[in-house]
Amino acid sequence: MLDINMSDNTGPSEKAKKLFSLREEIGDCRRCKLSATRNSIVFGEGSPDARVMFIGEGPGKDEDIQGRPFVGRAGQLLTAIIEKGMRMTREDVYICNIVKCRPTIDMAFQRDRPPDEEETAACSGFLLKQIEIIKPEVIITLGNPSTRFLLGTKTGITKMRGHWHSFGGIPVMPTYHPSYVLRNGGESSPLKREVWEDIKKVLAALGSGETIVFSNEASVDSPLRKAFSDEKKQEEEAEIQRKLF
Ligand code: SF4
Repeated sequence: MLDINMSDNTGPSEKAKKLFSLREEIGDCRRCKLSATRNSIVFGEGSPDARVMFIGEGPGKDEDIQGRPFVGRAGQLLTAIIEKGMRMTREDVYICNIVKCRPTIDMAFQRDRPPDEEETAACSGFLLKQIEIIKPEVIITLGNPSTRFLLGTKTGITKMRGHWHSFGGIPVMPTYHPSYVLRNGGESSPLKREVWEDIKKVLAALGSGETIVFSNEASVDSPLRKAFSDEKKQEEEAEIQRKLF
């Protein structure tokens, strides 16, 4: 089901209408083999006017059942980052994946895998249209597949994370996928600290309006606005890190 913001009395925005049309275009998609095993097409959800867009690789088991992105255990970690760390809600941001149907390792449907080239080629056009419609100020790629796809690189997430990159002029901050964080240490994973360092850079960029220096492109001026700029907020941010990570 497409989640669009209908709360405005003036009706859905142009962006919401475009997202709705895009979901209609996908329809009961059979463009790749993932259609044979899926329960739901997980289109994506959040604000059509989101400043921040999170992009993962594909739905997992819980997402496939519920038809919503990042609602399983990894999704709970992502939600904590958004709500407790970024002081935003899931409705403030936009969350989606490269492919809209769940890729699994085998017909046992127990283990997920990244989408293959064929699946990515079949589905990624929808993601590109979502980016084009939403025009976020910042994209956060979660893990290797979405980082490699969007930035056209083979470099691993360990080297890519924590540095600004650009996709068509939109600043991109790669970080670890929440599933990867949980697989490497669970709730007390040391990778949480690194994710938080990356998120802090996003928050600073959203607030500072300063020039972002891209690793894969010449620096450009960002229109990003002010937040996390005064001392009090920095103290609060340190407190969040202590509690969350
Ligand atoms: S993954 Fe994308 S292209 Fe493949 S069937 Fe699902 S919606 Fe269609």
